[in-house]
Amino acid sequence: MARALAHDLTARGAFVRTDAELRAGHRADGDWELATAAGTVRAGFVVNCAGLGCDLVARRMGAEPPIRIVAFRGDYYQLSDRLRAAVPCLVYPVPDPEVPFLGVHLTPTIGGALRAGPNAALALAREGYRPGRWEAEELFRLASYRGTFGLARRYGRYAAREWLRSWSPAAYLEAVRSIWPGAERADLGIRSSGVRAQAVRPDGSLEDDFVLTRGPGALHVLNAPSPAATASLAIAERIADAVTGPVDRTAPGPAP
Ligand SMILES: Cc1cc2nc3c(=O)[nH]c(=O)nc-3n(C[C@H](O)[C@H](O)[C@H](O)COP(=O)(O)OP(=O)(O)OC[C@H]3O[C@@H](n4cnc5c(N)ncnc54)[C@H](O)[C@@H]3O)c2cc1C
Repeated sequence: MARALAHDLTARGAFVRTDAELRAGHRADGDWELATAAGTVRAGFVVNCAGLGCDLVARRMGAEPPIRIVAFRGDYYQLSDRLRAAVPCLVYPVPDPEVPFLGVHLTPTIGGALRAGPNAALALAREGYRPGRWEAEELFRLASYRGTFGLARRYGRYAAREWLRSWSPAAYLEAVRSIWPGAERADLGIRSSGVRAQAVRPDGSLEDDFVLTRGPGALHVLNAPSPAATASLAIAERIADAVTGPVDRTAPGPAP
């Protein structure tokens, strides 16, 4: 989808630059001067939608974000053909209102496979796509943030259970069995993971809504949780309106 969007944008004259981590930004003559891994970029207005890195990018641009991002890994298992034939539709657990995560559910994919997931295990690296991965910098950030201790106090039991599911296929299977009792260990196939950018407030509570803050010449998207992928085009319209003022998109002709 990102590739398709990049294609459409480029066709309209936009310039897409990848492999360009933002390292620092400062104001210069009313504009932004952004130092990136691929050189300097000058911009009149910056929208920071850096997902796992959004709080770091905000800080690198001199803003003081009201939340911090904590990375939560979600592990998936591809399920066997036996279960694929038996499960006809999406199967969800009853949601836990205390947390903004759906819980391990079953999804028949558009490619014809069936997968289980994701759990929500605290990752010790921003891009902690494997259970054992950790980064000293991220550990330091976690240890020096007041919200981490509140997080442990509020969600300690939940976190321990989700973490165990990350390490133990037997524990993961329990989650699958709670919604599909016929599942067996042999039904768990290839494993893969994604990492959520979860905003945590200073009191340790999890932010479950969108957080957008404005600074001079900048808009920071500091929490864009699920369903932000599904709703990305609608969110983009809201962001564009916030930058340029509301636009009438029902008017005939090419979209602005
Ligand atoms: C396991 C899992 C399951 C999910 N399930 C669903 C679902 O079913 N439905 C749904 O709608 N959503 C789902 N989501 C959530 C969805 O993926 C996110 O809400 C969405 O991707 C957020 O979009 P974003 O553009 O804010 O951030 P991202 O998609 O994370 O994009 C951020 C981009 O910024 C870049 N970046 C980071 N730091 C820097 C930097 N310093 N400089 C430059 N670039 C930087 C990154 O490389 C990345 O390309 C899921 C997420 C996970 C992890």
